Amino acid sequence: MSKKCRNCDKAEMNSRPETYLYKESGLPNVVLVGVEVRRCPSCGHHELVLPRVTELHRTLAHALLRKSSRLSGPEIRYLRKYIGWSGADFARHVGVDPSTVSNWETDKDPIGSTSDRLLRLMVAHGAPVDEYPLDELTKIGDEQTPPLELRVSPKARGWEQVIAAA
Ligand SMILES: [Zn+2]
Repeated sequence: MSKKCRNCDKAEMNSRPETYLYKESGLPNVVLVGVEVRRCPSCGHHELVLPRVTELHRTLAHALLRKSSRLSGPEIRYLRKYIGWSGADFARHVGVDPSTVSNWETDKDPIGSTSDRLLRLMVAHGAPVDEYPLDELTKIGDEQTPPLELRVSPKARGWEQVIAAA
């Protein structure tokens, strides 16, 4: 069951469920609740064990679709990669220079509302959402707000959003 750390090869990895800040997603505020993390007691190396990764990434993408304010740089990058576009692909579809996309993704410039909307529509089109909030899109304001905070936990049939403890 347990196995040696593949980083140092000195100790057995410990495995337990954790609340894990999922920085690997590229999104700064996504917390995975109750996911298995294997940690090496010797060198500190860790491995995240993710069930149903495709569903997880879809859950995160669909949560971003519902965000009521303009997408942040990391969120733009996440969704753009989610639909498999390079920065150049995205620039071509939106009709801007690739450097403009780069500026959006690094938060140097805010994304325009039309481009924001197009990106969300592409995500929705590629991966249908049951109740796609098209009406909500018209309410997206120009104000920049902090990145969406998300806590998700693996369930029997996918991933579910969980409410943060007060
Ligand atoms: Zn180790």
